[in-house]
Amino acid sequence: MLFGRLRDVFQTLRFRLMLWVTLVVSLITLAALLTVHQFVYNTLLNEFDQRLKDDIGEVASSIRQNPIGPDLHHALNVKARNHSLRGWFVQLYDADHNLIWATDDAPNIKHALLYSDRLMALEEGPLRIVQSRFEPPSRPAVIIRLGSTMESVIEDIDLLNWIMILAGASILILAPVVGYLLAGRALRPLAWIIATTARLQPKKLDERLPVRGTGDELDQLSRTINGMLDRIAAHLGSSNDFIANAAHELRSPLAAIRSSVEVALDRLRTPDEYAALLVDVADETSRLGNLVNRLLLLAEGDAGRLEGADQTAQLDGIVRESVEMFGAVAESVGVEIEIAQLDRASVPGDDFHLRQVVRNLLDNAIKFTPPEGRVHVSLQADVSHEMATLVVRDTGIGIPPEDLPRIFERFYRVDKSRQRQSGTGLGLAICHAIVNALGGSIHVESVQGKGSAFTVVLPMQRSVEGKSGSSAAA
Ligand code: ADP
Repeated sequence: MLFGRLRDVFQTLRFRLMLWVTLVVSLITLAALLTVHQFVYNTLLNEFDQRLKDDIGEVASSIRQNPIGPDLHHALNVKARNHSLRGWFVQLYDADHNLIWATDDAPNIKHALLYSDRLMALEEGPLRIVQSRFEPPSRPAVIIRLGSTMESVIEDIDLLNWIMILAGASILILAPVVGYLLAGRALRPLAWIIATTARLQPKKLDERLPVRGTGDELDQLSRTINGMLDRIAAHLGSSNDFIANAAHELRSPLAAIRSSVEVALDRLRTPDEYAALLVDVADETSRLGNLVNRLLLLAEGDAGRLEGADQTAQLDGIVRESVEMFGAVAESVGVEIEIAQLDRASVPGDDFHLRQVVRNLLDNAIKFTPPEGRVHVSLQADVSHEMATLVVRDTGIGIPPEDLPRIFERFYRVDKSRQRQSGTGLGLAICHAIVNALGGSIHVESVQGKGSAFTVVLPMQRSVEGKSGSSAAA
């Protein structure tokens, strides 16, 4: 239990950040302390050596003034006793390195340094020694060796060591504590994000993560998650609207069928009356079937099943065939329909779906164009950019500018009173879903009272494309 809790704590980001902070601070502190220690030690030693070298200079000038004899011995012994450096001593050697004289209590040192004539300092156990060759005028050369115990330096270094150990230990204790507190403070917004995200429910997506306005990574994370929540909420909202609208649209043909059946059952009727009622039922059933098919198509689009990437459709054939099919309808309402340009274009996609796109656009164009109006269709293949552009242009009633941005939404219909025939408001949404799934785009330009132009751009199949340049009128 306790072990489990500890393991949970060890796994936290806070704990790991604390460890990193402690590690980095400890390494930096260790390096800094070692550098300072070395620097202070060198400085103390240099000062110590400098004092000994100054003393050598003084002894040399005494030798220059007095010959080596009792007076000099006395003076140097007094100096040795009163010197501020503990264990200070002088030894004088002749040029052959034989000891001539030494102050009282001078240690007996046998060392290679003796054979060097340069001014140099050396550590000899607890002693620091300097030595120099001196040639007094018109007298034989003397080697002056001078030294002292290093106790004062060692004491200073010991004190420095203690201070450093205390400083290091305090930093080692404080680093994890401060690191843990700082990490907790830095990660507090993350805890809010986790708590708020845990509270979110699919049915209640109105809560958003707090943005503190600092612009740091955690604010960016909150903004990103909020953006994602906005998109999910919008998606859920439109799905709910879609279901509600679909139910609503399904209800009217069902109600019509039910009422026709009820009228038929109400009393005995003539065969002609039954026939008329059955025709109504058949009409409503086909409307219902049509609606269900459209809804299924949109559902397929939502499920990402409209891609049809492994199939190829001959778009020019579909356009020609659809225009021919709508020719009679157009003629019956006094609208002229013609193909202005028809390039050969094969596009990746399913025949059935592409037919839906072309037919929806033609159907709308004829539906919303008054008699004596015209519908122009053109299909242009841009081989260099591998793009096929289909334009369906009419001289119809046009679409008000305020409706244009919503025209491809599901169930969206411009003022229903304009509708000459009943519509579901799904045709353009289906076109949009299919074209998007095929990697293309669809857009509309429209001037109210003058007409509309729907443009579909689709990527072409990479195979050979030729321009037939044909034009046809239906
Ligand atoms: P429906 O399937 O009911 O025709 P659409 O999604 O195809 O619905 O069209 C949505 C709305 O866009 C229609 O209600 C209509 O008002 C408007 N619209 C579509 N095409 C045209 C057009 N060529 N001219 C004018 N209005 C159009």
